Amino acid sequence: MTIMYNVKSKTAEEFISDAEIRETMQFAHEHCNDRNLIKQIIDKARSFKGLSHREAAVLLECDQPDLVDEMFALANEIKHRFYGNRIVMFAPLYLSNYCVNGCVYCPYHAKNKSIRRKKLTQEEIRSEVIALQDMGHKRLAIEAGEHPLQNPLEYILESIKTIYGIKHKNGAIRRVNVNIAATSVENYRKLRDAGIGTYILFQETYNKENYEALHPTGPKSNYAYHTEAMDRAMEGGIDDVGIGVLFGLETYRYDFVGLLMHAEHLEATYGVGPHTISVPRLCMADDIDTADFKNAVPDDVFYKIVAVIRIAVPYTGMIISTRESEKSRRRLLELGISQISGGSRTSVGGYVTPESEEENSAQFDVADHRTLDEVVGWLLDLDHIPSFCTACYREGRTGDRFMSLLKNGQIANCCLPNALLTLKEYLRDYASPAVREKGEAMIKRLLVTVPNEKARATAAKYLEAIDEGERDFRF
Ligand code: SAM
Repeated sequence: MTIMYNVKSKTAEEFISDAEIRETMQFAHEHCNDRNLIKQIIDKARSFKGLSHREAAVLLECDQPDLVDEMFALANEIKHRFYGNRIVMFAPLYLSNYCVNGCVYCPYHAKNKSIRRKKLTQEEIRSEVIALQDMGHKRLAIEAGEHPLQNPLEYILESIKTIYGIKHKNGAIRRVNVNIAATSVENYRKLRDAGIGTYILFQETYNKENYEALHPTGPKSNYAYHTEAMDRAMEGGIDDVGIGVLFGLETYRYDFVGLLMHAEHLEATYGVGPHTISVPRLCMADDIDTADFKNAVPDDVFYKIVAVIRIAVPYTGMIISTRESEKSRRRLLELGISQISGGSRTSVGGYVTPESEEENSAQFDVADHRTLDEVVGWLLDLDHIPSFCTACYREGRTGDRFMSLLKNGQIANCCLPNALLTLKEYLRDYASPAVREKGEAMIKRLLVTVPNEKARATAAKYLEAIDEGERDFRF
């Protein structure tokens, strides 16, 4: 029986249709040298309204250097149009690596006896969060393995409460994003009520057959339950959801199309696409060797993937983690990334007690080991504004309200001042002298470019107040 493709269906195999993905890949393959079609698609994308998965797949398949350069330039232009040169900063916080699943690419898998298992107590969470606040972070993504007994939802909810409650010096965590296993509508409602920012869940791969082989045991082995998680999250009232695939598990062509179909499904069904798209690539980890996986994505292809996603879904934030090296992060920032982590530790408790290799409890080996201050200084040198802003979500600008502001270009009037205000806080409270000097120069240079006169004057007043010790201003 053929399964019909239906973008608005709430059944995984209908909105992520294997047949539609395969036909799309075939179509893209057949048209990869069709310069006229490719130029037409690039021209269509210039109206900043995005592309269909089929059009995007054709661009991804194109290898003609001049056209690829055009795509890269357009991706950069779109990033600047919607996000300016702001880069939002965050850090992951690993709560627990206990896990009942059997994911073959993840060292948390239940059969792994060499990884040190650890779950943070609320007291330990306090210490980790204070360490993160002392670095200057305001936005976290909490991460946990799936373990109904060790990490039940109550533990996650209690941890969120602890995190929001910690006030240490001028520090505060103002937005907690959550990356935990697929769960029920009722649990998503509880997460929403706990005031989470984005609910993030990576699909890992959209290829059902491969998904089942990669997740042989545990609750995560249920493809439909996992793939329909964002529908349940929406039903539970979470309207900022973050999707992604783990590149390297499946052919990138298949997952690229699946990812865009998922975004189209959310937009078509709920009127709001994904808030963010993450593009992790598989890394070496405790008992995981990337050489055992045949679908590694080379850098040049990866750059094209990011650029074409940027072109296809212009309004969605794009996240890159410290799985990527400084070199590739630098390139990806020019191709559409709007959010990066800095100073990350992927081990449980790693911010207070960095681990030696032998006592590894980490989820993967990070490729960017710089401190947050080094990353902030580096961004300033590259003329990006490191932003610690969390204003939209705290002002209730989530879901379609956020998207419509962004689509109307309105967000630019409050985002730039918000970025400068939060950068200013960082510079006053946490930066090294050299970074402070560079950051102050950038603020001076950019304040005058805030388009709205009233907003500019208010921002100037707030900046002065920050110098006098006040905190947490926002537009
Ligand atoms: N346990 C949760 C779940 O079931 O989705 C999510 C949390 S997990 C801590 C976060 C993500 O790390 C996973 O969704 C996966 O994509 C990624 N990950 C797992 N193993 C990895 C590896 N070896 N290299 C890079 N990323 C990996």
